[in-house]
Amino acid sequence: MQDVRPVRADRIEQWELEADVVIAGYGIAGVCAAIEAARAGADVLVVERTGGWGGAAALSGGWIYLGGGTALQRSLGFDDTPENMERFLCAALGPGADEARIADYSRGSAAHYDWLVDCGVEFKPEFWGEPGWEVPHDEGLGFSGGENAAPFNTAPASDRFSPAPRGHVPRMADKRTGVRGAGYMLMRPLVETAERLGVRAEYDLRVASLIVAEQDGVDAVVGLKARRYGHDVAIRARRAVVLATGSFAYNADMVAAHAPRLIGRPAAAIEEHDGVSILMAQAVGAAVAHMDATEVAFFGDPQLLARGILVNGRGQRFVPEDTYGGRIGQATLVTQDNQAYLVLDEAAHEAGCATATSTPYFRQPPTWVAESVAELEAEMGLPDGVLQATVELYNRHAARGVDPVLGKKPEWVRPIGTPVAAFDMRGFTAGFTLGGLRCDLDGRVQHVAGGAIPGLYAAGRCTWGLCAGGYASGTSLGDGSFYGRRAGAAAACEHAAEVRESAVK
Ligand SMILES: Cc1cc2nc3c(=O)[nH]c(=O)nc-3n(C[C@H](O)[C@H](O)[C@H](O)COP(=O)(O)OP(=O)(O)OC[C@H]3O[C@@H](n4cnc5c(N)ncnc54)[C@H](O)[C@@H]3O)c2cc1C
Repeated sequence: MQDVRPVRADRIEQWELEADVVIAGYGIAGVCAAIEAARAGADVLVVERTGGWGGAAALSGGWIYLGGGTALQRSLGFDDTPENMERFLCAALGPGADEARIADYSRGSAAHYDWLVDCGVEFKPEFWGEPGWEVPHDEGLGFSGGENAAPFNTAPASDRFSPAPRGHVPRMADKRTGVRGAGYMLMRPLVETAERLGVRAEYDLRVASLIVAEQDGVDAVVGLKARRYGHDVAIRARRAVVLATGSFAYNADMVAAHAPRLIGRPAAAIEEHDGVSILMAQAVGAAVAHMDATEVAFFGDPQLLARGILVNGRGQRFVPEDTYGGRIGQATLVTQDNQAYLVLDEAAHEAGCATATSTPYFRQPPTWVAESVAELEAEMGLPDGVLQATVELYNRHAARGVDPVLGKKPEWVRPIGTPVAAFDMRGFTAGFTLGGLRCDLDGRVQHVAGGAIPGLYAAGRCTWGLCAGGYASGTSLGDGSFYGRRAGAAAACEHAAEVRESAVK
């Protein structure tokens, strides 16, 4: 890691680049900040470490968590309101979620959908209602946070909110997961919009630290120091800097210090997510929050999971198997010591494998196959009787098509017969970090002593966004794009520039 300590403006010999608003990182938060800053009349420069725009966003599955009655939800017949969305998110993304931010996001969500569409992002008016990590084709809407599964679809939760699908997926052609998926179809029109607005981009330029100057007795951010091909490059921001370089999932030291359950298991992130924005901002006094929070993916095929039972190292069920995979991942990693086995019978396995999936690589052969649960349990090395007891209880209720223990929906509940198989899914989790810079709702980075750091804004996964204890797919592209816009618009209107002018050589 480079030296992230701030550099004083009066030490800068030459400013190689400058703009009103300088944005670090050309992923989802960066591009949305750029569009709104440019629309607010600012001259905008985006500085990107790699050779092109996109970041993790362009590789992503493209779920964008939006609701409260978006045009797409309404066109497909789903009722939703900002209050309904807010109540669900407060329940699903905690503990410790920022309720004011969730309320703000829920209120602005339908208009944000319209904004994306106006920028050229296309959504196909088709609903995908099956379990899956992503939609298998180019459907535009699906459940992406467990809204329609226990505990959210059962009393008392169902008295407070009704399940609505909020995973919005940009339409894509020739889908190739992880290469050219819906995330690319989100980023491309946004970057084209930014280019039409005159946003400039500099690639292969790696931001390393902030440049500061004194303003009214405190340090204000007036630029960025970056490295290109072994040389320092000083970039002046006449109005403000927006940090948008992503999470710290690939900074091993930071993960060890803050989110140790993810040690050795970064995923759904890119190597450039090294936490540099967080460190640079901390070096000028920025506050952080929820640095321990993580998204956790589970490497199981949702169609197979829903048809079986997932048991822990003691052979006991612990999560409704038909819920959102991210909830399964968090439950497995956080409460079950990363121990999980999927148990299902031959008929369920065949039925699951016959369905459409976006994750065929998760459909591997079982680890153990047996003619009875007792035999399977012995092969798995579980204590005598534990799995048999679990299956006996599950089957007793499943004979009536219900799961009173964990609330799996009746459509997925069927007694487990023989032959029966188990998949060893111990350690099948990975994820990315959700904590980061503490910002206000306009993206102003907050100082540990309170108040904003003049000239400094941030958005995306380098900030603490919507999520704290929980996660729903689409909240990263969702809060990254939503609060990226806010940060860009506010940065363009930063008034401190003239005051700082005199402090900059
Ligand atoms: C395979 C995959 C699937 C995913 N699926 C989803 C999904 O369906 N829905 C969802 O919400 N999220 C998804 N995610 C996560 C989501 O893509 C990210 O969390 C999101 O893109 C974060 O937004 P960001 O703007 O903070 O970072 P990014 O979009 O990654 O943008 C950050 C940019 O900053 C650049 N950068 C980094 N360091 C520097 C530096 N020092 N100087 C200059 N530039 C720098 C990076 O190269 C990158 O271009 C997925 C991610 C992956 C990889």
